[in-house]
Amino acid sequence: MMNAFKYLSTLLLLILCGTLYGQDGKQSQKWSIALHGGAGTYSPDLTKEKIKMLENHMLEALSIGESILSKGGKSIDAVQAVVVYLEDCPLFNAGKGAVTNLQGVHELDAAIMDGSNLKAGAVAGLRDVKNPVKAARLVMDSTKHVFLIGEGASAFAKSQGLDIVDNSYFSTDERTAQNERINKGTEEPYPVGTVGCVALDMNGNLAAATSTGGMSGKKWGRVGDVPVIGAGTYANNSTAAISGTGHGELWIRRVVAFDISALMDYKGYTLENAANEVIFHKISPMGGSGGGIIAVDKSGNISMVFNTEAMNRAWSKSDGTFGVGVIKGDDKSFKK
Ligand code: ASP
Repeated sequence: MMNAFKYLSTLLLLILCGTLYGQDGKQSQKWSIALHGGAGTYSPDLTKEKIKMLENHMLEALSIGESILSKGGKSIDAVQAVVVYLEDCPLFNAGKGAVTNLQGVHELDAAIMDGSNLKAGAVAGLRDVKNPVKAARLVMDSTKHVFLIGEGASAFAKSQGLDIVDNSYFSTDERTAQNERINKGTEEPYPVGTVGCVALDMNGNLAAATSTGGMSGKKWGRVGDVPVIGAGTYANNSTAAISGTGHGELWIRRVVAFDISALMDYKGYTLENAANEVIFHKISPMGGSGGGIIAVDKSGNISMVFNTEAMNRAWSKSDGTFGVGVIKGDDKSFKK
């Protein structure tokens, strides 16, 4: 009788600890989050005012994720909410403000991944879904599939009640002018402005989400790395959550996000070493227009590694430290 009582009370204690202290049994008030708003060259239109504006919007987006994570919310919800904000902001190449293909049509790609169960959802070539990352989340949560494209993906998003818009909703004057310059051959296509977010929550769960209009000057039907799981987006609780930005073809060919995770998994690399290895020793020698990644590991360490002159980036941790930056070497750090 006494033994049964002891057994039951121990069991009860274990269940309580599991609920209060997260899946690994350790109490954690720790969370981390990082976001990017694309990598690219230091273009002359990157004035001080524009940099300030980008930083302010990134900090605003960050605060949405912080408020979810600091209340014990899930990393998967935090990364989605941050990416939705950035998709709605016309400064970035995702959702409103996305680049067009050479025909002047916006075709959008997005992905989301939950590191706790390796579930993922992705969409590509969307022309009328206001927030592609929401469609990716629904593919993950409400279908047996990982990746839906084009009209089928749009029809699915509609059936789930997502906001549908005319393709012109995504246009801005700046993007229209850019497309004209690319078509005339007076501007080289380059990647900039894709958005992404990675986070670790108090339960030790990692998540990543990425959304983009793709590369400027792209062909009709071109799909980049962003929705390709393992290339531009990846999350695994035993290693890291990673979101990429840059010359997508290279990210696909090098399977960048998975390669970083694999170096940690198979070779015991730290996140920072794995990210540096892949960006500087695998991507850089391939040429192209480069790019970068943001990532967070299972201990909450953040890496933001890029081989371009600029990458819009911001980060925050539960210890009250946070930061923001646009140009390489110009990182502003703060403490709450
Ligand atoms: N990686 C994106 C793509 O190739 C572009 C970007 O990051 O700006 O579609």
